[in-house]
Amino acid sequence: MADFEVPELKETVEIPKYVDGVMAHSAPYKAKPQFQEALGFPGELMENWQQVALEKMTDLRTRYRSFQVYLDACVKCGACTDKCHYYIGTADPKNMPVARQDLLRKVYRRYFTFAGKYFPKLVGAVDLTKEVLDDWYSYYHQCSQCRRCSVYCPYGIDTAEISMAAREIMDSVGIL
Ligand code: SF4
Ligand code: SF4
Repeated sequence: MADFEVPELKETVEIPKYVDGVMAHSAPYKAKPQFQEALGFPGELMENWQQVALEKMTDLRTRYRSFQVYLDACVKCGACTDKCHYYIGTADPKNMPVARQDLLRKVYRRYFTFAGKYFPKLVGAVDLTKEVLDDWYSYYHQCSQCRRCSVYCPYGIDTAEISMAAREIMDSVGIL
């Protein structure tokens, strides 16, 4: 008989921490600057990246009405929470579609809404920091943009569109 140990089965999977150089989406595997530049992207994180990112978000809000509606309309009903296969597979709360959206929504609120500008803590608004950008990179690249979650949202909020916008913003600042 084969001699092996049966691994302990747990109710949820343990999620490894983000570690540079280990995970497939960590820094060394980002597209190299020369490939990014060939596509018209900066190649590396720019010095004034916050300003460029916010300008890009303004541009997207202006061009795509749906983007702003999706950011404003969520009532946190929770209907989408368990509808993403990435959440089901990882049990990582940030992979719930609503939480994935909120990574961008909390920045949108901080810079583009009255309540977020003057009472950020009341509405869960946060500054666009490098930590937030790292979370964007990790979680917007864990969305396959399949749109399954949008089918269950009573408002038709499409997380895929928010993921696309976040990736477009990251491209514009050199995080491809
Ligand atoms: S669109 Fe993204 S967040 Fe929604 S179910 Fe698909 S992978 Fe998950
Ligand atoms: S189902 Fe729609 S309204 Fe409800 S939490 Fe999810 S995104 Fe928000």
